[in-house]
Amino acid sequence: RFITLEGGEGAGKSTQGKRLAAWLEGRGRKVLLTREPGGSPGAEEIRKLLVQGATDRWDPITETLLHFAARRDHLERVIRPALAQGQWVLSDRFADSTLAYQGYGHGVDRGFIAALERAVVGTERPDLTLILDLPVALGLKRAGGRRGPETRYEEMAQAFHERLRQGFLDIARQDPQRCRVIDAAGALEAVQAKLQAAITEKFQA
Ligand code: C5P
Repeated sequence: RFITLEGGEGAGKSTQGKRLAAWLEGRGRKVLLTREPGGSPGAEEIRKLLVQGATDRWDPITETLLHFAARRDHLERVIRPALAQGQWVLSDRFADSTLAYQGYGHGVDRGFIAALERAVVGTERPDLTLILDLPVALGLKRAGGRRGPETRYEEMAQAFHERLRQGFLDIARQDPQRCRVIDAAGALEAVQAKLQAAITEKFQA
């Protein structure tokens, strides 16, 4: 089983991901919790190139290529081997983030991104994608507590984050079989309960 968590800044993906992994393990599943950009030693190196430095360090197409380079390494070295061993893989971000951030957010041609996805990932898709959705202002407020070497994107204009949110909602509309939009504006526990319910419904887990 391959589950991905998606969403904009301050949606709570990493906290919810940790809890979901613990919950699944409590139900006897072997779980690999991983993340993008990153998730394998090589991809974590590429992550550093992506998240550190000025917002305009890379032009959007270069940035897209770096995300796919990282994704290929993560898939080949970590995700596919884990799935082959029967583990449940829970990834904090995957290909939908590239479409939302670089496509909807930065305006990179979506056909180009789709072609890269076919070349790098193939036709394989997550079994379930949980999209944590919340108003941009709330997400930025929550993320605002974080400041450090990895917060460059969080400092981008509000309009960028609005495009991103609409991007994720569009992705969900286009693939309703795979995607579930989860209202992430509520309390941590309430959101966790919705995520667990979506997984239970999908897999009878
Ligand atoms: O999800 P996480 O906060 O770990 O992501 C790291 C940074 O990379 C975030 O600021 C996110 O906005 C950014 N990112 C991006 N394009 C992607 C994936 C993540 O700009 N495709």
